[in-house]
Amino acid sequence: MSQTKQPLPEPVRRLDTPEGTIFYVLRRKRVKNLNLRVGAGGVAALSIPWNLPQSRAEEFLREKSGWILNHMRRAREVKSDLLPQPSRELCAWQLMEALLRMYPLVEGYGVFLPRLKLRTMKSQWGNCHWAQGYITLNTALCRCPEKLRDYVALHELVHFLHHDHGPGFYETMDALMPDWRERRKELKGYGAALESP
Ligand SMILES: [Zn+2]
Repeated sequence: MSQTKQPLPEPVRRLDTPEGTIFYVLRRKRVKNLNLRVGAGGVAALSIPWNLPQSRAEEFLREKSGWILNHMRRAREVKSDLLPQPSRELCAWQLMEALLRMYPLVEGYGVFLPRLKLRTMKSQWGNCHWAQGYITLNTALCRCPEKLRDYVALHELVHFLHHDHGPGFYETMDALMPDWRERRKELKGYGAALESP
């Protein structure tokens, strides 16, 4: 009878530190130094030399607790599901629709309907070129729900009234889209769309 060797699941240990609780697995290996990483599941993995006492390992984790907890939090952040990237034509249409949906909100302030340019950008969802009369929207917005496209389109339209992010800008956003802060927060969950155009 052949026996398949299944690796035993590693016990997840916990360590309470003043900054929070660290969950980790301890691996004794033929290494010279302590080696620490935080996996995608938000559990830290610490490799230590065979003969190192566990107390020394825990001391090390306490020293690094700020760094570990930071990475644990980031690993557990909710990532929202991206919509599939549509064709360039459909994407252009979707973003134009967002602009046309939001434009009536600022029309009464005397804002002219701007031209729309599409760009694939890594760090910005949109841009307002108020002096030149156009806004740029990131094609990655097509991977986000409609209400988030609307939020970015309105944000850029409001820049025709307030060029910077001063109090006047936020007052106008509050008046025109009372839930814009929630939408901004939701948009952060779609950050992966910026990295995978
Ligand atoms: Zn802005």
